[in-house]
Amino acid sequence: MFETAIAGSLPKPSWLSETEKLWPQWKLAGPDLQQAKADATLLWIKAQEDAGLDVVGDGEQSRQHFVHGFLEQVEGIDFDNKVTMGIRNNRYDAQVPQVIAALRLKGRVHAFEAQLARAHTKKKLKFTLPGPLTIVDTVADRFYGDKKTMAFAFAELLNQEALALQADGVDIIQFDEPGFNVYMQDAVDWGVQALEIAARGLTCTTAVHICYGYGIKANNDWKETLGQEWRQYAQVFPALAASSIQQVSLECYQSHVPPDLMALLKDKDVMVGVIDVASDVIETPEQVADTIGIALQHVPRHRIFPCTNCGLAPMSREVATKKLEALAQGAALARQRYGA
Ligand code: ZN
Repeated sequence: MFETAIAGSLPKPSWLSETEKLWPQWKLAGPDLQQAKADATLLWIKAQEDAGLDVVGDGEQSRQHFVHGFLEQVEGIDFDNKVTMGIRNNRYDAQVPQVIAALRLKGRVHAFEAQLARAHTKKKLKFTLPGPLTIVDTVADRFYGDKKTMAFAFAELLNQEALALQADGVDIIQFDEPGFNVYMQDAVDWGVQALEIAARGLTCTTAVHICYGYGIKANNDWKETLGQEWRQYAQVFPALAASSIQQVSLECYQSHVPPDLMALLKDKDVMVGVIDVASDVIETPEQVADTIGIALQHVPRHRIFPCTNCGLAPMSREVATKKLEALAQGAALARQRYGA
């Protein structure tokens, strides 16, 4: 009951890359970089286990950014000529590569870190991939001319990699779709369908993470404009409830998401965000257990999976480590409080 996991990303150590940035520059190159990525991955697996989490991941230590890390292994994308593009409905500008030809995988994308992680933990292993809708919002299109068509092309590539990750021994494959909270109508019209293509044929657990973004200023400013009730999830949750995706994550603690929206997810497992990624204040176990208590009013206990609201990548290592501990300790307290 109340199995814990993080959303996905963790801070990169200062010897691996710049810190507290969304697109950090690597500090090494070639074989040294590969070794450093491996070291950082193992370090975070140990930290997640030490904190007491039930499900662990690679902390996304091998990718510069959660979307572009995947795109780097895709043929048909020009990384040499990045352009500035407003992303997430123009919330902030990003330097993005351009799609210039039909898309094809160059080969495996995440074999190295997935296999490394699998070899070094006996815990359940979760691996994250960007979702198709969010990918098409984080790359410039000079070829397809249509978001849906391009999203479906990416979904096929994601499916190839997801099936290979499953063969590597990954237990949970999670697609990250922060774009679902920005382009709600697109998400309903074709985003969920693209997600199901990406997850086609998987027999491991499938998940989707939908959030209000990393704790960066552009996102925090945006949240200020969303009013006292954040109802974005209300549009996409019914479509996800009707889909084949098994787990859905949402922000809860310190958000303005009405908790009763969780009930829209009907028979899904719900990864409840009990850790705020927009603040360095460390949650107490009591606060985490209280949030789980709120979720219990809307979701049966066996379907609640305490989680972070989003990734922890832009935070300091020290804060992230303490937040992992708070997550595990809060879930343990909730088991005592609400256990049968
Ligand atoms: Zn997120």
